Amino acid sequence: MTLDLAAYAAERGIKYFMISFTDLFGGQRAKLVPAQAIADMQADGAGFAGFATWLDMTPAHPDMLAVPDSSSVIQLPWKPEVAWVASNCVMEGEDVAQAPRNVLRRLIAEAAEMGLHVKTGVEAEFFLLTADGEQISDEYDTAAKPCYDQQAVMRRYDVVREICDYMLDLGWGPYQNDHEDANGQFEMNWEFDDVLATADKHSFFKFMVKSVAEKHGLRATFMPKPVEGLTGNGCHVHVSVWDAPGDAASTNAFAGDGDGPTGEVGLSAPGKHFLGGIMSHASALAAITNPTVNSYKRINAPRTMSGATWAPNTVTWTGNNRTHMVRVPGPGRFELRLPDGAANPYLLQAVIIAAGLDGIRKEADPGKRYDIDMYAEGHKVRGAPKLPLNMLDALRAFDRDKGLKAAMGEEFSAAFLKLKHQEWNDFVSHFSRWEKENTLDI
Ligand SMILES: [Mg+2]
Repeated sequence: MTLDLAAYAAERGIKYFMISFTDLFGGQRAKLVPAQAIADMQADGAGFAGFATWLDMTPAHPDMLAVPDSSSVIQLPWKPEVAWVASNCVMEGEDVAQAPRNVLRRLIAEAAEMGLHVKTGVEAEFFLLTADGEQISDEYDTAAKPCYDQQAVMRRYDVVREICDYMLDLGWGPYQNDHEDANGQFEMNWEFDDVLATADKHSFFKFMVKSVAEKHGLRATFMPKPVEGLTGNGCHVHVSVWDAPGDAASTNAFAGDGDGPTGEVGLSAPGKHFLGGIMSHASALAAITNPTVNSYKRINAPRTMSGATWAPNTVTWTGNNRTHMVRVPGPGRFELRLPDGAANPYLLQAVIIAAGLDGIRKEADPGKRYDIDMYAEGHKVRGAPKLPLNMLDALRAFDRDKGLKAAMGEEFSAAFLKLKHQEWNDFVSHFSRWEKENTLDI
């Protein structure tokens, strides 16, 4: 169903559209287009020089056109004369294969061919810092166990309420907000949805949280580990698969009493194999779910001030227990606890589908269920792979996983690996204080 954006603008008093796309590093790029010009842009797209963003293009490439997907349009609740619309990247009449939203759309279509419609919800944790990003903005937020701190969440009521009110107005079905496990950290939850809608909302949520925080003189960050020694920003994903998209969904294909340990926690055979795909590709998919140098300061981290990192370090799954990489909190769905706040909203969902479909095709077995406290007894687990220790490990694991690279698309995988290796090389060539301190007198 295509919405006429010019008519939408006239109806709602919109003066400008942000035609937005997301590059390989998760950066959101946009052009501001006056409503008078939106009809042409809706048909043909807005032109961009792809080389100027992280999409692995050269200055010689022709114009890349960002064609708005009108079903994603959102009038900015904090600036109603502007509307944001996610777009699909096209060049010379073809979808740009490595553009993240296109990668996800292709995988959604593949799943649909198998009669599977993925629905997900994300828990995008964030910190509220001072405007310069240097300090936790609330100087009184210093408790050793600040999770659910009633006083601290109310000191940020004006920010949290404003964002939650906007989600209510947008019809996202927000249902809870809290202070999370790190000082200065918050989480806001809204209803799960079709996977493309969730990815668009996740993108918009990051934009909205940052914008509202700025309005209040603060800085919001989704950085995986913005403060050393404190719990990092996770982006847990809850996954289920249905018989039809949208409101037509009636049967959860993951729910059922399959065989073995997955059956005991309420996963059907397809649910079991989808989970098996996630488990077997975990080390490789970390390159997408944990895409930055800083990501590896969150997973594999030493115990934080609150007593637990709440992040996994090993490829294990369990029932309702938050110390593992995958938790099955109830029948018919699972929670992937690996991703962090730096994950690209589109690639995050794409890689889950890619790994899951591969698992279904190969009837992958997720392996043993561990019902232990991984933080206390993880050393007792034998044979479960450790997650990558750093970004280079993850990139190498992704590069070795030919099946996952093919499922994500060869053009995408080559472009992603190239740019991410450049980023890693840039990082390791950075001369750090640590080296000087530890090597000066050797
Ligand atoms: Mg949380």
